[in-house]
Amino acid sequence: MEKEIKKDTNQKPFLASETKKNYKHAPLYRSISNENYSKISYKNILKKFEVMGIQKDDPRLRYFFENMKDKKLDEKVSDESFNDILENQSKLFQKVLKGNLAVPDFTSFSNEIKDIYKKTRTNNQGKVADYIPQLKRVDPGMYGISVCTIDGQRYSIGDTNEYFCVQSTCKPINYCIALDDLGEDFVHKHVGHEPSGKGFNELTLNDRGLPHNPMINSGAIMTSSMLKPNLNIADRFDYVLNMWKKLSGSHRIGFNNSVYLSEKQTADRNFALSYFMRENNAFPENTNLLEVLEFYFQCCSIEITTDAMSIVAGTLANGGVCPTTGIKVFHPETVKNCLSLMYSCGMYDFSGEFAFRIGLPAKSGVSGAVLLVIPNVMGIAIWSPKLDSLGNSVKGLHFCEELIKKYSLHNYDTLIISQQSKKDPRYHRYQKENRTHADLCWAASRGDLLQIQQMVASGINLNQADYDGRTPAHIAASEGQLECLKYFSTLKVSLDAKDRWGNTPLDDAKRGLHSKTEEFLHKTQVTRTKSRLQH
Ligand code: GLU
Repeated sequence: MEKEIKKDTNQKPFLASETKKNYKHAPLYRSISNENYSKISYKNILKKFEVMGIQKDDPRLRYFFENMKDKKLDEKVSDESFNDILENQSKLFQKVLKGNLAVPDFTSFSNEIKDIYKKTRTNNQGKVADYIPQLKRVDPGMYGISVCTIDGQRYSIGDTNEYFCVQSTCKPINYCIALDDLGEDFVHKHVGHEPSGKGFNELTLNDRGLPHNPMINSGAIMTSSMLKPNLNIADRFDYVLNMWKKLSGSHRIGFNNSVYLSEKQTADRNFALSYFMRENNAFPENTNLLEVLEFYFQCCSIEITTDAMSIVAGTLANGGVCPTTGIKVFHPETVKNCLSLMYSCGMYDFSGEFAFRIGLPAKSGVSGAVLLVIPNVMGIAIWSPKLDSLGNSVKGLHFCEELIKKYSLHNYDTLIISQQSKKDPRYHRYQKENRTHADLCWAASRGDLLQIQQMVASGINLNQADYDGRTPAHIAASEGQLECLKYFSTLKVSLDAKDRWGNTPLDDAKRGLHSKTEEFLHKTQVTRTKSRLQH
């Protein structure tokens, strides 16, 4: 049973205006601290975002930066300004400060990604695609990985600001656009859902005379034919480019004209596939075949960075809503259909193997790009141009294998209840929603300031004691967790509560031989007593 201990009423409120009824965000404000545990500055708020992986270019922080425009980084933020900032982005601030984001320990997760990057970087197997000179000329050593969770937490390492062609990763996107525009029934009158069991550009159709699925060349040419067929070719391209822009949270999307021209020149197989499909009456009525092929080559020649592509993958992981802008780009049913086909057909002739080993929907392209989706958790973009014999990025596959070795993110890892060797980076609602006094005491014993601050943001009472009258301050003192006690002292936390044996935190620090903690608690007691006498 928990009981409330008497508050140290002689302590001044931490914030002058905390008593005001209209000050809604006091717990959030109190959960932010700086090195000196004095009033917080803009820098301290930014730090909170940084730790959680919310980047400075995140569109959701625009208002915050506008508010900061004429101010210095270390300028103090008054509680009123804080209130004002929060009125605008309350949901994001709540999630960040309470730690309720898709990956709560984003720093550890990013460090693990960095380790995997370092480990896989030395894998130099494979060969850059050489069917067009523009791809052959790409630096084979390039390697970038970017992650974007469904809450827009981002991390990038390596060559993540270099532009590369999306190539076949445009296939799932074009399929989504077609589904969203025309519906599943119409689209699948013209393209199947089966893996073909053959190469991605094999001259073959299913027994209905249709391309097997939208993730291979014939199927992608088919879905391209459905995208705004009544617009002129320039506007059709703009339409698709604009979709990429929305999917990537407004990042700049490029276009490589020489890749486009080369693709067009070396496209005998794609022409052959298209004529074969036309012969079988597979296209929607009035399709202009040559126009569609040009349009498809243009879509393959769109350029992007892994940083932007991870947000595209994050949007798919988030059911079609862009994590950083909140804009709904695709319907969830559309994304569900697309991920199902990426799962079974997205990795060329390795798709079955990939589904078995990695257990996640993905799509790769001959430029060395891999778009990996972890539904309801995050999207990952990997780019490294050296390909294996099936056309998948060697480092890309290696990265996925290492990721799945470390984390239980394979679709069916959920069946294995305890996998002690694997970690789960996810936020689990049931774990965090009802955090108790016991959780707080554990955090205090470990000196886990971040956890404590997240609980403070959620409104937990630091003055609570258990049946024996033990408070978080007692526990922190027993373990010599000085930083926690310094933080407690800035809030209205009693530091001289007595447990049922009559011991105060100071007694506990003494008993534990934590001399610095003892000294701090002693000083605090003296200062508090003085100020009590003065009033
Ligand atoms: N532009 C290539 C083609 O259609 C795409 C290849 C790919 O990335 O799979 O032939």
